[in-house]
Amino acid sequence: MSPPSTIQVPEDPLGAGAGLAPYAASDRESRGRRHPEPPPTYRSEFQRDRDRIIHCAAFRRLEYKTQVFVNHEGDLFRTRLTHSLEVAQIARSIARVMGLNEDLTEAIALAHDLGHTPFGYAGQDALNRCMAPYGGFEHNLQSLRVVDVLERKYAEFPGLNLTFETREGILKHCSRRDARELGELGERFLGRTQPGLEAQLTDVADEIAYNNHDVDDGLRAEMISIDQLREIQLFNLQYEEVLSRYPGLDQRRVIHEVVRRMINRLVVDLIDSSRARIAAAAPRNIADVRGASTRLMGFSDELREQNRALKGFLRETLYRHYRVRRMSSKAARVVTELFEAFMGDPSLLPTEYRDETRSHRGSSGDRARARIVADYIAGMTDRYAIREYDRLFDPQCVG
Ligand code: MG
Repeated sequence: MSPPSTIQVPEDPLGAGAGLAPYAASDRESRGRRHPEPPPTYRSEFQRDRDRIIHCAAFRRLEYKTQVFVNHEGDLFRTRLTHSLEVAQIARSIARVMGLNEDLTEAIALAHDLGHTPFGYAGQDALNRCMAPYGGFEHNLQSLRVVDVLERKYAEFPGLNLTFETREGILKHCSRRDARELGELGERFLGRTQPGLEAQLTDVADEIAYNNHDVDDGLRAEMISIDQLREIQLFNLQYEEVLSRYPGLDQRRVIHEVVRRMINRLVVDLIDSSRARIAAAAPRNIADVRGASTRLMGFSDELREQNRALKGFLRETLYRHYRVRRMSSKAARVVTELFEAFMGDPSLLPTEYRDETRSHRGSSGDRARARIVADYIAGMTDRYAIREYDRLFDPQCVG
């Protein structure tokens, strides 16, 4: 791996550092890109990262990847694309008010799910099982692989050549085994230090977004009910407030009013509690944030508990609903059979992937071939995976 470059910041940093807290990430203190590049003319370094992410193919594919509900189940459900936009919205609002780096926060939020397989967690679990003999598969690590290796468009480097800080934020968790292979990015998992505040923030914003939109989508799909949700304090407190203020309001609007209040409650708590923790720890710069013994971004004990209860409810009720389980079971079959077919006969792969497997012949090349097959499958959208499955296994399906 190339040594990190030091980013040269022009005299007038284009407002990139304006209004930033001293412990926020900044162009000036960035640990740089793996392949040094001249600074952008009219953008900050993190704006450039954000722009590269928006223009990459993996980002466009998020539109047709499942969050919980398969894309063709209905036009109103969240996809990975709308989920990523909601995470960016929540995270940017918080970053702005806390003096954190909004551009970096947005870049991390938009990239955080780029490595997801088709069919959500069911697809990832299936691919992980297939890949168990070959080093496993983990969507979070795959998001990093997408931006570091798999996007191939730039003349001078593989991937998108993002800054260390954006890559640090994308890699939310990592096993010690994987961390050892990741160089400077893996250091914090081995040394148990923290990422920057923008990464910590986006991690929590992800959770706020998916818990709340899954409540909304789950109610819309009639897989969970308001009566069930009233057992959950976070929901019930807002629900009672909405009913007392707007008696007789139609149900769809009630749900929206409750969900927006839940999000707001969590966001306000996160800002207040994180500010208090930052004040107590008094970090002078991003190095102090990284060196702190615990994360500085987080909920109060009360809201952490309420949020945990909601999460547990969704896990038990929505994610294990028979309709979700049926979809998951089909998804696992599609992913597993695609993997076995391609591993068994790499000549079935599209030309560019097949050619790549040719440089890894024999049983010693199994691991490398499996990774190429996993990259191909992980990059598929839900509908592409289904079409590819038909093309391979349905005798009636041609091309
Ligand atoms: Mg996410």
